[in-house]
Amino acid sequence: MLVAVAGAVLVTAPVARVSLANTEIFLPAYAAAIFLNELITAVLLLALFSVQRSRAVLVLSIGYLFSGLMVVPWALTFPGVFASLGLPDPGLQSTASIAALRRLGFPLFVLAYALLKNSDSSVRNSHAPVRGTILRSVAGVVAIACGFTWLIVTGDDALPRFMSDTRNVSEPWQYVPATAVFLYLIGLTVLWRRQRSMLDFWLIIVLCTLLIELIHLSYLSAGIRLSVGWWAGRLYGLISASLVLLVLLSQTTTLYARLARSVSAERRAREDRLVTMEALSALIAHEVNQPLASMVTNADAGLRWLGRKSPELEETRAALKRIVNDGHRAGNVIEGIKTMFKKSAQERVPLNLNQLISDVLRRSQGEVQLGRVSVETGFDEQLPLTTGNPIQLQQVLLNLISNAIEAMNSVTDRPRVLGVRSERHAPGSVVVSVGDTGIGLDPEHKDQIFEPFFTTNRDGMGMGLMFCRSIVEAHGGRLWATDNVPHGAIFQFILPHNEDSALPNKWKLP
Ligand code: ADP
Repeated sequence: MLVAVAGAVLVTAPVARVSLANTEIFLPAYAAAIFLNELITAVLLLALFSVQRSRAVLVLSIGYLFSGLMVVPWALTFPGVFASLGLPDPGLQSTASIAALRRLGFPLFVLAYALLKNSDSSVRNSHAPVRGTILRSVAGVVAIACGFTWLIVTGDDALPRFMSDTRNVSEPWQYVPATAVFLYLIGLTVLWRRQRSMLDFWLIIVLCTLLIELIHLSYLSAGIRLSVGWWAGRLYGLISASLVLLVLLSQTTTLYARLARSVSAERRAREDRLVTMEALSALIAHEVNQPLASMVTNADAGLRWLGRKSPELEETRAALKRIVNDGHRAGNVIEGIKTMFKKSAQERVPLNLNQLISDVLRRSQGEVQLGRVSVETGFDEQLPLTTGNPIQLQQVLLNLISNAIEAMNSVTDRPRVLGVRSERHAPGSVVVSVGDTGIGLDPEHKDQIFEPFFTTNRDGMGMGLMFCRSIVEAHGGRLWATDNVPHGAIFQFILPHNEDSALPNKWKLP
């Protein structure tokens, strides 16, 4: 950018002193642009101060605010610009004095910023209310700007004789740009040596462009107001200041977007963690509840059989056996849940699904008998092996079977049949289905049954099918439900099988 401005300066330099008559009309627009530019920069810096609590940034924002505010009286007092408004004649020296104040004031603020920024750590830790500091500072700057304006406008006689007429500067003016150049150079040196942040970098660019603008305004155009050089210098300054502001704005926006993204990602992660925790506790309760309930029922029955006059030892032994089995089942459930959530520890072994289904059916015998359900099995004896976690897949089958029995509880007008089948499914997969002749799937809720916490059972948790589906999907398979004909529902899951792994003979079911 500096190169571009310097190049443009070279182009305009030869015609810099040519006067452009009647161009005062553009002055209000130029002043408004500078005013807005510096005001927005000041606001951005104040926002930065409220985050960083850096005194240096506060001083810099005050500098921008002061410079921006002083543009207003500068434009209002410019000879001939607002004459039509009927404002009282401010005197010949007002505009130049305000310009001198801005020119010399701004680099002093930048210098103060550069000198203060390394001794800021104590302020950062202070708990002084930021809003109060900002309000006091802004009020102070506005008051000072108004005070200076009043003094300059009313005390024209006491002001240095900077202008010889409305267009041309006189001898004393030359000290202003010379001092300003000196201050810019000191500011640049200090900033360069203490440069740490992006803000320091951009301030260096601002000072460089101000330097180029000043050289143009005061030397190339010989200070002749409204000449080509005078306008060109102002325009270059305005363009580069706008670019700096745009960069600041885009950096702020990018930062804000990044912050917003990371806040929402953090919130999502927290919600996910909560859902997982909630789901995990619900799953444990759901899965352990069944064996616990059955243990209590069997223990009750055992106590009753023992309490009889002639204790029924055989029945009691059978009840105790079922309690032992249920205890193992609860233990396995906990083990399964642990493995389900410990991804790295998921043990996958070659599995004979027929064997697995038979084991589960054996374990569900109590529930089957209690529900007066008859079981029909259909195993494909050539079923190839699949790879998976036996405890997790047993869990899936236990859930589906228990749901099927539950769905047939209220059926009295037809046989309650639980059908469990396995078959090959081309290509490279096996399908297991659990069908029942129960109440069937409610068409209204068909799509919801796999969602967490959806249940139509009074004592249900609505977690079983969700976990079944996630287990099956974690095995690279799919679980779905269809209507059974003429009554009931069929739940089926498909799993990929091991290539070329038809059942070894010893695992074939009788
Ligand atoms: P829960 O068993 O705690 O209700 P699930 O996730 O296992 O939770 O089941 C969710 C819902 O799906 C059940 O409440 C029921 O409405 C429906 N459902 C599950 N299995 C069957 C089935 N075999 N027949 C009809 N509806 C079923």
